[in-house]
Amino acid sequence: MSKPKVAFYWCASCGGCEEAVVDLAEDILKVVGAVDIVFWPVALDFKREDVEAMADNSLAVAFINGAIRSSEQHEMVELLRRKAGLVVAFGSCAHLGGIPGLANTFRRADLIDEAYHKSLSVTDGNGTEPLEKTEVPEGTLTLPKLWDTVKTLDQVIKVDYYLPGCPPPVNLINGAIGSILKNELPPPGSVLAPDMALCEECERRATKPDKMAQREFLRPHQIKADPEKCLLAQGLLCLGPVTRKGCGAACVKGNMPCTGCMGPTSHVVDFGTKALTAMASLVDSNDDREIAAILDQIADPVGTFYRYSLPASLLHRSYQPEHAKGEK
Ligand code: SF4
Ligand code: SF4
Repeated sequence: MSKPKVAFYWCASCGGCEEAVVDLAEDILKVVGAVDIVFWPVALDFKREDVEAMADNSLAVAFINGAIRSSEQHEMVELLRRKAGLVVAFGSCAHLGGIPGLANTFRRADLIDEAYHKSLSVTDGNGTEPLEKTEVPEGTLTLPKLWDTVKTLDQVIKVDYYLPGCPPPVNLINGAIGSILKNELPPPGSVLAPDMALCEECERRATKPDKMAQREFLRPHQIKADPEKCLLAQGLLCLGPVTRKGCGAACVKGNMPCTGCMGPTSHVVDFGTKALTAMASLVDSNDDREIAAILDQIADPVGTFYRYSLPASLLHRSYQPEHAKGEK
């Protein structure tokens, strides 16, 4: 009997999700024994034409990581959607937009200006910018169109399941592959991780006070955190109370606060808003000026509360007049 065919694809992300697959270590041999990996550009020399030649629905599952922000990524995920019975949004960027999604606080023109003209590492100063078409004697060279707005995978194609995390924890990847192979999947649209807050699995939860009274929000470099006590109780902005569990509280184990990469539980509509209001509600003051001073200690509110989820949020991106005209 032929083995189920599986594809992996990488859109706008750092590559950490591809590393997470390699982090399966010897378990990857079990995966390779159970499935045929027929497309994985980062590791195997298959081409787009190979996918185009496959029959529709001939892939059992396509694991797609990364946000969508270019015409090429859009074409590739539409192609994989046609070829795959199941599509899994793999990692924070495909799930919620991830770190690349913070580009939605800028316009494409501003990003190109910064990268090709203003950045201190740009030295030639001849005004070169990437062009979608360039004529050379041999013909026309093309580059994908960079979108103005970064999107989550499910804002572009239908997604069947979500594997959260930056990157997804190995135990969840193993669990998801096992569930797919045994056909023991939860209802479509599910996030393949426990639907409870991270504090539930944090070894420091016994030291988390029932009622917090936050007088300050500190950044990790500002204190030497006690490795036994709840980080939030020590003034560090730990998003464990609003983040989905499943990673084993990996960052807290390293004495760093949770930044929310697993995203929200199913009860939350907008992770950033939930995180912001949860932290604001802990502030211990009734004085407007004092409250403002405490909240001002949060250096980068968008980068703190929407670090992984701006494209998936109700805000989606900063408003620009050209978007009203329908420009991507
Ligand atoms: S707030 Fe952070 S450190 Fe405290 S119990 Fe929750 S996850 Fe652990
Ligand atoms: S502790 Fe938070 S930021 Fe770290 S891996 Fe877990 S969910 Fe992600």
